[in-house]
Amino acid sequence: MIYTITLNPAIDRLIKIKGTLTKKLTNRVQNVEYDLGGKGLHVSNVLTKFNIENEALGYIGEVNQQLMGNILAKKSIRHHLLVEDGASTRECMVVMDDTNAGSLMITENGFHVSEKSHYKLIDFLNQFVTKKDIVVIAGSMPPNYTIAQLQEIINTIKSKNSFIACDLSGEALAAVVDMGINFIKPNQYEVQVLLRDTNTTLIQKIEELARLIDYVVVSLGKGGSYVAHKNAIYHVSSPSVQEQNDTGAGDVFVGTFIAQLVKGKDLQTIMKYATGCAASKVTKHNSTDFDVKEAESYFDRISIKKLGSDDYVVS
Ligand code: ATP
Ligand code: MG
Repeated sequence: MIYTITLNPAIDRLIKIKGTLTKKLTNRVQNVEYDLGGKGLHVSNVLTKFNIENEALGYIGEVNQQLMGNILAKKSIRHHLLVEDGASTRECMVVMDDTNAGSLMITENGFHVSEKSHYKLIDFLNQFVTKKDIVVIAGSMPPNYTIAQLQEIINTIKSKNSFIACDLSGEALAAVVDMGINFIKPNQYEVQVLLRDTNTTLIQKIEELARLIDYVVVSLGKGGSYVAHKNAIYHVSSPSVQEQNDTGAGDVFVGTFIAQLVKGKDLQTIMKYATGCAASKVTKHNSTDFDVKEAESYFDRISIKKLGSDDYVVS
């Protein structure tokens, strides 16, 4: 089983207004749609699309539980989300207008998670996670959640010897990299927290991390990614595509990477699917859609180069 953990989920409220979004004017709403928010839930969505059995864990608020339930049901996402009484799952408002000037994003912080809920999650992990499982922890932390609580989650999973993938940022990322986890995917900005107070270059840091972590990916947006595994670092280029919305590309990358890993694919295939599906996502308006056939059509435009004194192209 693959478990995803989203500690601070969100509901994306996509608001389409007529004309041009303008301050001080009444901007009339033309259409409102809801979509899944929160990185771990996005990963669950990708795994579900690949028909990989998975269950989404984390915390949601009681107040808008029904709305969240409907969004999850529509996407057929299996979940065991713990409900916090009197709390509301945060909303992330994305305002779009008729221009192509990009969207405006306004994100709430999320609710405080009680000790009781935290221990319910720890108990669940203790009871159900086994060494055959993969656990993906992704996204931001609730406002009152501590690094110690995150470490408690990771230590609980580690005690089961499961594969742990983390898509975290800031202090949370810095705190987990030396805990003996198996996969990370910071983007080019998130990785900076690991480089502060050092004279190390990005590549040297990736080499260092790869001694501790089985799969180290640093995603570079349209610049592709670095992928380090088993003493080798690859640069994977991304195909150039008609960009509509790059939000969620990282989540599609992570979800696809894990899906292909579970299917037992070799690293080259894993990298191609992850890169292709993420590029396909970029061509879509919302933050979750992507098309596997479209991704496959990009494969001959994705090059994989092994770094080293004798850099060479793998495919
Ligand atoms: P998010 O947090 O929005 O999910 P991210 O910042 O974590 O995204 P990115 O580095 O932006 O992740 O993108 C992840 C991967 O998606 C990249 O490594 C690349 O393969 C692909 N990608 C991103 N942007 C583009 C683009 N404009 N064109 C093609 N591929 C892209
Ligand atoms: Mg990211």
